[in-house]
Amino acid sequence: MDYEVLRKRMVEEQLSRRGIKDQRVLDAFRKVERHKFVPKDFESTAYSDFPITIGEGQTISQPYIVALMTECLRLTGREKVLEIGTGSGYQTAILAELAKDVYSIERFRSLSSNAKATLHELGYNNIILKVRDGTLGWKEKSPFDRIIITAASPRVPLPLAEQLKPNAKLILPLGEKFSQVLTIFENIDNKLDSRQICSCVFVPLIGKYAYQQ
Ligand code: SAM
Repeated sequence: MDYEVLRKRMVEEQLSRRGIKDQRVLDAFRKVERHKFVPKDFESTAYSDFPITIGEGQTISQPYIVALMTECLRLTGREKVLEIGTGSGYQTAILAELAKDVYSIERFRSLSSNAKATLHELGYNNIILKVRDGTLGWKEKSPFDRIIITAASPRVPLPLAEQLKPNAKLILPLGEKFSQVLTIFENIDNKLDSRQICSCVFVPLIGKYAYQQ
């Protein structure tokens, strides 16, 4: 199977045509080998327009939603980014293509180790992973220019709001367990201004400052 052709088609049909415009984001999606981040049995569907199961009851999100969240962050290459929900590591790799440093937290050790192996194989050296409850953030590495939460939360976890730099952005699927609104926040004068992007459905963020087990 020619994965490069499938990647180009994915970018054209699923991203450009639906309004993703940032050339750096589109280039990152053309480059990152999504099929390396899914279980072997699902490799042939890695570039399709739907989420794919990655183990532990979790999923790698649909390419379009990963691109939309990434574009909303308006990365220039200089940022320190915190990601909550490493999952397969695919979104982590996209962020690493577009920002200076990426810190990513996952609650399942098995997912984090698989992601670590894939990201190492692909040669990324600007990513640090950690296993813990991501709703607590990563105080020692804070403050961050951008925070991306790739699981659904009923609120912005307080420690994460506190770990944002002035004028920094945070994006998350905000809402109930089975239906959310993708929402972006900007830290202006120590207050979070919000803007709603679109409705979405993510797996829940399970932790001290989000949903309980
Ligand atoms: N971005 C990932 C990718 O590209 O594969 C997909 C992430 S998946 C939709 C959401 C992830 O968030 C899951 O792997 C889940 O285990 C993780 N998660 C849920 N609650 C968490 C928490 N409190 N801390 C860290 N990770 C969490």
